[in-house]
Amino acid sequence: MEVIKARFDDTKGIPPSGLCVGIHRAGAIHKKMIRKYGDGLAVWSLRPELDFLPFKKEGLGARGIRTTNDIDSIKAKDEQLIFGVRGAPPQIRKRARDLGLELLADATCPFVIQQEEAAEELLREGYNLVLLSSRTHHGIPRLTGIAQEVGREICVVENEGEVDRIRLARNEPVGVIVQTTFWIESYKRIMTRILERFANVRVRNMACVDSLHRLPVVEKMAKEVDALVIIGWTEGMTNRMLEVALSFNPRVYKIEKVEQLQPEWVQGVATVGVIGANETPDWMVDDVAKRIKAIAG
Ligand code: SF4
Repeated sequence: MEVIKARFDDTKGIPPSGLCVGIHRAGAIHKKMIRKYGDGLAVWSLRPELDFLPFKKEGLGARGIRTTNDIDSIKAKDEQLIFGVRGAPPQIRKRARDLGLELLADATCPFVIQQEEAAEELLREGYNLVLLSSRTHHGIPRLTGIAQEVGREICVVENEGEVDRIRLARNEPVGVIVQTTFWIESYKRIMTRILERFANVRVRNMACVDSLHRLPVVEKMAKEVDALVIIGWTEGMTNRMLEVALSFNPRVYKIEKVEQLQPEWVQGVATVGVIGANETPDWMVDDVAKRIKAIAG
């Protein structure tokens, strides 16, 4: 059996670590803050249990820094604040200011910030926001919070069938925001239906650089191997990778750790691909590749 590991060394827009730009950058910020301040750092995060996982082997989170989604648990006299890679709704940023917390660093992914700015612009211009996204995506509370600031709502659309549920008339302004992690093929299908239904549409395609470059690698691998193992846990990118891969290959499996690998998935197949998602460290992908080789014998 041949085990083929996805390589990103030469992939534009993906750091050699295999992590996405946002996670790679946030890890570097956290490590720099620890080096500089040593202790008393609190990261406010939309998914606190995930923030240090990609850097666990390097000891990030073991001391000096913690993550939480409870802004009131951070006391100005004891801790300094960092916003995590997934950003923070405006209401949380305001609460931090009200609590007098010192914002030491903002590790929000630059693509997340760009998406927020696009949403604010569309709202300012009077568009009704329609977000093309999976409903479990962690970014939804941020965009919902931005809309609520100006007394508005957002409508989340996951697939073309849901376009008919948008409660707007044909000539009302529709501002489409594409989720940072979204597959261009789903986007095209949904947009076709949106353009059939609405006359006044503006689109901001905020798919991030990782979506644009990692998902084509997934597609290529899914077409080339007999079975594909995806290692990841993120609501956005991991699930998009699964969606893409399953469109081209029925033998696709998602795991979060090497122990979840089932021998029958890879037994008797000639080629197995292994690929990590945007928060999966390279050593974890290596461990899975080694385990598959051991199963093959
Ligand atoms: S997947 Fe994209 S949007 Fe999300 S953190 Fe990574 S680079 Fe940023």
